[in-house]
Amino acid sequence: MSKASEKSKPALLKIEIESSNRAPLGKAIVNIDQFLSEDTNSKLTMEFNKAQNIFGLRVLKDNIIWLWKKNKSVVVIDPAIAKPVIKYLKEKNLKLEAILQTHHHSDHIGGTEELTKNWPNAKVIASIKEKDRIPFQNLSVKDGDKLNIMGEEVKVFEVLGHTRSHLAFFLNVKKHPVLFVGDTLFSGGCGRIFEGTYQQMYSSLERIKSFPKNTLIYCAHEYTKSNILWALNLKPQDQNIKNKLSEVEKKLSIDELTIPFSLDEEMKINLFLRAKNLEEFTYLRANKDLWV
Ligand code: ZN
Ligand code: FE
Repeated sequence: MSKASEKSKPALLKIEIESSNRAPLGKAIVNIDQFLSEDTNSKLTMEFNKAQNIFGLRVLKDNIIWLWKKNKSVVVIDPAIAKPVIKYLKEKNLKLEAILQTHHHSDHIGGTEELTKNWPNAKVIASIKEKDRIPFQNLSVKDGDKLNIMGEEVKVFEVLGHTRSHLAFFLNVKKHPVLFVGDTLFSGGCGRIFEGTYQQMYSSLERIKSFPKNTLIYCAHEYTKSNILWALNLKPQDQNIKNKLSEVEKKLSIDELTIPFSLDEEMKINLFLRAKNLEEFTYLRANKDLWV
């Protein structure tokens, strides 16, 4: 879509924010890793896991860019790179309404600037604490904020641990609520603790456990198989984990993502969610760091 036609249309995105902190559109300085420029080599598969109008684009080594679609509008979560998103949206004649950023890592924000060049009216929604590291944000949010995006309520939750500010976005749709968790929770695993503390990550997972049990979790990486192999190594007799491995292998063999996954199912197989206390969690996280 050309810039002119973008401008002539009123913005469909209705964002209401209860406690708003609006940042000016900053000049972006993004440190894009070398590998991000090699996107043309990545095997891109479109329309994985079509659930509730949420599509996963598989990019780079194991990143998933989630696209949440409503009518002709799309919200993109953590665009690692821009090219496949632009291609997908233009081919289907869709309009980018907003980008949700969970955290500042380059494999989550690498495509944002280019996307906003194509859709200058798109809102870039990110943590107010990350104005320096996500400088192109134009709608800054914090824990507890509520947004109205494409007619749906989206709640902002801070889930610390992986980075010193990391957000999750909760979409309370009727049948299955949706939680975009970035790099906080993976199927069978959790994010590495880069800037936070074990206590923070443990509390973040406890917080995620308090969401409705039928919540579908959308994380940003396909790490499931390796996580499950690690868990089985620690709990070789665990039937739930064994079953999960065969389910995961089946999906991967037909080129399907293992994501999203439901919170109740995940609580049976994820050792980090099963940890009874901080001590056990800390042991598991340290053990996992040595595994991969
Ligand atoms: Zn990350
Ligand atoms: Fe990541």
